[in-house]
Amino acid sequence: MAELLKKIKGNTYYIKGPVNTGLYVYDQNRCVVVDTGSSDDWGRKIYKALKAEGLEAEMIINTHSHADHFGGNNLLVKRTNAEVAASGIEAAIISNPYLEPLYLYSAHPPKALQNRFLMGKECRVDRIVEPGNFTIGQTTLEIVDLKGHSPGHIGVATPDGVLMAGDAYFSTHIVEKYKLTYFINIADTLDTLNRLKDTDYCYYLPCHGDLSSDIGEEIHSNLKAINETMGMIRWELIKPLTREELGAAITEKYNLDLNTTQYYLNQSSLAAYLSYMTDEGMLKRRIEGRRMVWEAV
Ligand SMILES: [Zn+2]
Repeated sequence: MAELLKKIKGNTYYIKGPVNTGLYVYDQNRCVVVDTGSSDDWGRKIYKALKAEGLEAEMIINTHSHADHFGGNNLLVKRTNAEVAASGIEAAIISNPYLEPLYLYSAHPPKALQNRFLMGKECRVDRIVEPGNFTIGQTTLEIVDLKGHSPGHIGVATPDGVLMAGDAYFSTHIVEKYKLTYFINIADTLDTLNRLKDTDYCYYLPCHGDLSSDIGEEIHSNLKAINETMGMIRWELIKPLTREELGAAITEKYNLDLNTTQYYLNQSSLAAYLSYMTDEGMLKRRIEGRRMVWEAV
């Protein structure tokens, strides 16, 4: 295989990039592409890599609907006629990308948020997938429920025992660099991370980070970071704070730079922590002085 395609095992390959793309080859020269990067450029890169090897993309599976995972869909679909598959809620966003800045902002988003990081190019989804077997040609892949980072996040396990894990977890160096990594549902994230810990795939390919045969350390780093954030939230909420005030305190503690996009991603992630911790009885919420405040119990 050409340099661009790196072999993982058997018929499973990947293209390394800012967002790793997974590939599974079946029936000689057909392939399934898992996630397509952030742009037409990345789609073009995937297309060239496939063409160089005489491979035909039959199916694109998107692990989730963040703009950096389906940005190459349109170009690939146009050039290869591949079908696109995603889970139901992620398919709704891939085919209506406005929903991402809409949910982050909770109303019609200002133009600054309708940017290429938060709003991909609309793409039709042909097949809605659910966890379980996914048959294409003579091959059966396994769709794995990896909810948490996004509401309908899935992974794709190939017959070679490789799990393409999307953004279900992040490599340790990424967790250490960004500290407040994005999760939209903490209960689902904890469930997914704990389930992943007990799996024994030969290889794991996250979209952001490195291919690994053992993700014990990565899972530990992700869980540790979540627990640290929860500890920090409890500590800050010894006094009642609004989400805005809490966000300022946490990002200052983590020494994070903020731009408009990052601000709304952080606020969304913090909202996920506030829901989880309130539902688990760690925090309580009330309206005080016409502000919504949270406080540790
Ligand atoms: Zn993502």
